[in-house]
Amino acid sequence: MTDLLTGPEPVVQERRLRTEVPGPRSRELASRRAAAVTGAVGSVLPVYVERAAGGVVVDVDGNSFIDLGSGIAVTNVGHAAPEVVAAVQAQAASFLHTCFMVGPYEGYVAVAEELGRLTPGDHEKRSALFNSGAEAVENAVKVARVATGRSAVVVFDHAYHGRTNLTMALTAKNMPYKNGFGPFAGEVYRVPMSYPYRDQPGLTGEQAAARAFSLIETQIGAHNVAAVLIEPIQGEGGFVVPAPGFLPALADWCRRSGAVFIADEVQTGFCRTGAWFASEHEGVVPDLITTAKGIAAGMPLAGLTGRAELMDAVHSGGLGGTYGGNPVSCAAALASIRVMQEQDLNAAARAIEATMLPRLRALQERTGVIGDIRGRGAMLAVEVVRPGTDEPDAALTAAVSRACHAEGVITLTAGTFGNVLRFLPPLVIGQDLLTEALDVLDAAFDAHVPVT
Ligand SMILES: *Cc1c(COP(=O)(O)O)cnc(C)c1O
Repeated sequence: MTDLLTGPEPVVQERRLRTEVPGPRSRELASRRAAAVTGAVGSVLPVYVERAAGGVVVDVDGNSFIDLGSGIAVTNVGHAAPEVVAAVQAQAASFLHTCFMVGPYEGYVAVAEELGRLTPGDHEKRSALFNSGAEAVENAVKVARVATGRSAVVVFDHAYHGRTNLTMALTAKNMPYKNGFGPFAGEVYRVPMSYPYRDQPGLTGEQAAARAFSLIETQIGAHNVAAVLIEPIQGEGGFVVPAPGFLPALADWCRRSGAVFIADEVQTGFCRTGAWFASEHEGVVPDLITTAKGIAAGMPLAGLTGRAELMDAVHSGGLGGTYGGNPVSCAAALASIRVMQEQDLNAAARAIEATMLPRLRALQERTGVIGDIRGRGAMLAVEVVRPGTDEPDAALTAAVSRACHAEGVITLTAGTFGNVLRFLPPLVIGQDLLTEALDVLDAAFDAHVPVT
């Protein structure tokens, strides 16, 4: 119902089911999809989206869902934030593309300035822009290899860094990301992550780091390591927050060993965890930092930012791409960053944590199937297990998530064992909407967990 003069009617910030889920129009689209779109690409929701605003997604049958996923930590400033939409419209009316490598423009430079200003550390920085998180990570590895003259890259259990050939090698989980897609890129070495819930009790961050260093030093040789690459809080791997001290120990080891410390903040960046970047929670200053997802409210954009001497070690023309730093995406990023600052979305993320944690703890008490509650800010998760054990219960996790979808709440799962329910609400989500979503989550657990 778009009126050409006034635009579409505003999306009401409410949960409202008008049909069964999926409704008739979604079912019709699903059958068209089955005949045209490869089954290799999956979707979490059974419904097709027509509109979205703030914390609400509306499907083609008029059902409104409360969004606890943000398109996987992308719409941090809310769906269709008016400031971002206006910036995108204005840039689209000026020019859509020149290719920065052909005809440069201010937006790219301005985004690089913001990245330099916002990322941890007050050293000289330089940035390059790309289209996706995976591309930013690949380029981080390229920079680290050129700058160090070394080739080995150290990554961690449960890591997720993307789906391209190099980033599949960096990613830990076989199904669905890697299965059958090899051979993978070489010189990638995996070491244990600090995973407090599943590590031996009491293992400190420093001890977990020492466990990794021992493997690196005996199996790779410190002098061969170009980079240590880590998500400060793991995303797809299940929102694993390493024990305090783990990240600083890795950064320190890199400094002593001449290796580049790369923080993959593609999912954790841009206010998601209650800070601009999750590295800040432990005062870690990465040498290189990758960004994407939350940077531009849904327009495709990614950044690689780091020490000037590393970033400028690459020969002229060595990095780039046809669309990297697209002007419309840059305009969206600049507007998103302004919204984050003006609305103090770091504080908003912390307020979401303050609302959600007590509710999740009560759920844990009541159901007995939540082994761990973890995360920071508006990046929170519960790990679902069989009662009285730490055995993953992926089936229950999936059932609860589907029940939420059927009742109008968008939830996502994650984790190496598929047993993590993760919550990534838009940071602008209203308190009432968030509370209502948590009520739906409670009911979904109650419907699937036998009362004890
Ligand atoms: C999503 C993600 C990526 C990959 O980003 P794409 O834009 O999907 O290529 C890389 N690293 C992390 C930590 C991610 O969460």
